[in-house]
Formats: sequence, C-alpha cells, structure tokens
Amino acid sequence: MPYIYRCEQCRSTSEPVATRRAARSERRWHRAREHGGMIPDGESIAPDDHNALDTGGLLLAILIGCLIVAALTRITA
Ligand SMILES: [Zn+2]
Repeated sequence: MPYIYRCEQCRSTSEPVATRRAARSERRWHRAREHGGMIPDGESIAPDDHNALDTGGLLLAILIGCLIVAALTRITA
C-alpha cells in the first residue's frame, strides 16, 4: 500500500512512496526545506487509495496470473 504525505499549509502532496516510513522521511524533508524545521498545521500521512489496487483489481490480477500459468503449463506439456 503506497503512502502520501500532505501539507495543508503549502497545499501540496508528495509523490506516493512505498512505505509509511518513507512518507515520514518525506515529511521530515518537507519540514526542514519549507518550514525551517517547524511542524506545519494540517499535515498528514495517509494511505494513497488512488494509486492502490482495489480488491476487484487485485482479484482480476490474480485471475489473469492463474490463466497465464495455466496456458504456459499447457504449452510446455
Ligand atoms: Zn508545507
């Protein structure tokens, strides 16, 4: 699940990063670079639902993967 860091003061959002820890690193850099190390009001770290696979997408990906494996098994048999 990707995460994003959002700063309401700057009205900006980080690129999605792979882990919550990486999002905290983004926050640390943003605070230092844009706010002189101060903590801006209204900042947040949240799962990036927009870039995550939803349950239907995940099931579809698994189904397609199974079909590819079945086809490859049939071809090589
Ligand atoms: Zn900011």
